[in-house]
Formats: sequence, C-alpha cells, structure tokens
Amino acid sequence: MTTPDPATPRRPATPLLVDTFGRTARDLRVSLTEKCSLRCTYCMPEEGLPPIPEDRRMTTDEVVHLVALAHRELGVREVRFTGGEPLMRQDLERIVAGTRAACPALPIALTTNGVGLEHRARGLVEAGLTRINISLDTVNRAEFAELTRRDRLPSVLRGVRAAVEAGLDPVKVNAVPLRATLAGAPDLLAWALAEGVQLRFIEEMPLDADQRWSRGEMVTAAEVLASLSTRFELTAAGREDPAAPAELWEVAGHTTWDTGTRRERPATVGIIGTVTRSFSAACDRTRLTAEGTVRSCLFGDDETDVLGVLRSGAGDAAVAQAWRAAMWGKQAGHGIGGTRFARPRRSMGAIGG
Ligand code: SAM
Ligand code: SF4
Repeated sequence: MTTPDPATPRRPATPLLVDTFGRTARDLRVSLTEKCSLRCTYCMPEEGLPPIPEDRRMTTDEVVHLVALAHRELGVREVRFTGGEPLMRQDLERIVAGTRAACPALPIALTTNGVGLEHRARGLVEAGLTRINISLDTVNRAEFAELTRRDRLPSVLRGVRAAVEAGLDPVKVNAVPLRATLAGAPDLLAWALAEGVQLRFIEEMPLDADQRWSRGEMVTAAEVLASLSTRFELTAAGREDPAAPAELWEVAGHTTWDTGTRRERPATVGIIGTVTRSFSAACDRTRLTAEGTVRSCLFGDDETDVLGVLRSGAGDAAVAQAWRAAMWGKQAGHGIGGTRFARPRRSMGAIGG
C-alpha cells in the first residue's frame, strides 16, 4: 500500500477531496461485505471471494463514524452502500439508521442484487434509505440462473416490487449487457416500463474475478441501443447532469410519473458506456472497501487504510487527512484499451461496485 505524497504537486488548502486533475469527490461508495447471495460470472468466482476476517471488516459503528466524518469534514454529499451484497449484512438497517441519525440531510443509497429485498425494503426505508439501485440483467429465468449461478430470479422480481411499494422513487435497475442476454434486452426494457422502474445498461468492465473479460467480446453501448431499437423507438435525451454517466434515451409511447414535478414525463432508458465512452474526466467518486481502505479509483490498486488510522486512536483530523491525501493521488482514468492498461488486482465484488 502506498500513500501518494500530497506535496507534489502542491495540494490546495481545502477540506474537500480534490485531486490533481481538478476533480472533487462528493459521492462516497461503501462496500459493506465481500459475501454475496449470487455468483455473477462477470463479477465473482464460483466459490465466492476469499472471506475477510471478522475483525478486519468495518463494524456498524465504524461505518457510521467514517461516513459521518466524510460528510461533515470532507464534503461528501451522497453515500451509497454496496458490496458484495449489502443485504448479507444483518445490521444493514442499523447502519442506515445510524447514518441517518448522524447525517439528517445526507441522501443514503443502496446498490443490491435484490435477493431477499422483499422482506427488508420497508424496514430500510423506515431506517432512512432514500435511493435504491437493483441489479438485474435478464428477466429470463434460465438465463438468470446461468449467469448468476443461482436460480433466484423470482426473489429479485419480488424485491423490485417491494422497493416500489415501500415508496423508493425512482427505483433504478442496473443491467450489465452480455452476449448471452443481448437479444433479451428489449424484454428487460418492456418489463421495466411495466413495473415503473428506470432501467440503465452499464457496459461490462474488466473487473471479473475469473478474468474472462475481453474488449472484443464485451457488449458495447452501441449494441445495446441497436438491440433495444428493434422493438422501441428511442430518442437521445442527453445526460441528467454533466457528471452523471448515464446517457438517457426517451422511449416513444411510454410515460412515467415524476414525483418531483408531479407530472407524467416520457419514460427513459439509460446506457452507460463505461468502457467505450469513458466518463472518468467527470468522476466524483471516493470508495471505502469493507476493510476500511480508501480507494480513489475502481482501477487504481493504491489503497489507504483509514480504518487503521481510526482504530489507532489518532483522531478524526488524522483520518480526514489520510483520506484527503489518498484522493489527491487519484489517477486520471481507467485507460482500458490503452497499451499501458493493467487490470486492478481486486474484482468488482471485492472493491464495491
Ligand atoms: N451485489 C450488489 C449488486 O449486484 O447490485 C452490489 C455490488 S455489485 C459489485 C455492484 C454493481 O456492479 C452491480 O450492478 C453489478 O452488475 C456491477 N458489476 C459487477 N461486475 C461488473 C463488471 N465486471 N462490469 C460492470 N459492472 C459490474
Ligand atoms: Fe454479487 Fe453483485 Fe457481484 Fe453479482 S454483481 S456477484 S450480485 S456482488
């Protein structure tokens, strides 16, 4: 583990998480666990990730403490709990409630595979959860079982419905397009429109534990668009904001209820070209792994052990300083496709997607 030297070039005197490329990280992703109820082939190995020793994983109180510190001292404006599968933590509701109590105005989001969510969506909303993204790549049960190595599609579909019924709005559904599921992309969109959830496709990245990803095999944003266009008429609708990675497409003939404006508006589908249309120049993320290390970029292996600083008793100012120094060294982008691209050592499930 290396800590970038914050003195070269000189870091401006700001409490915020700035880097040498002029970006400011405002969006915190916290991985809560390496455990998962599924084994998606583009993410986890069949046997799951090596277990993190219990005493190295952040406790409920440590997660809440570090999130509150990031919000209070470092300018973080949104936190997203992820993993692994965050629902595997039985204390997830307590983590959300603790974060809500410590940070009343902070949006708290969850990225989940939706397995078992039907039993917890209401409790999570009551605890203070404000946003949710549920990952689902296909509504074909056989395809789902093949690519996740688990036959759990019915549970996920019930989880999506429970999230809507619990009042989470919008419910976003993230799909990684794969060769095996590309032809079914219009079915997935038809299902999302019928359920009233916002579908976004996100290109597969070289973050699978099995290291099978290849640039030639991956499904591109352009191919997703072509597949959806076989059944739907799509019109480009820009991005939600310049830092938002999703390019939106309006779906002709379909509307959705907008709670903000209290009006019907055209339904949209998002397509995120993480590989072919990199948005690294606008990246505003900072990441905390389940072991409490700060990772400035999905694709950068440098990690800074802020949990270690916290546990040493050095105090919040020292934790904040270590976090700032880690982010100052953030790399420019992922460089996939470049001659010097190197896969990160950890897979997506181990970093926290
Ligand atoms: N288990 C939760 C879930 O699946 O939503 C949260 C963790 S998962 C690592 C977060 C997101 O990363 C999911 O939407 C998943 O599809 C995505 N993901 C995993 N591996 C990926 C890869 N190689 N390329 C792109 N996205 C990936
Ligand atoms: Fe588990 Fe999420 Fe990775 Fe799938 S993408 S294996 S659900 S952590």
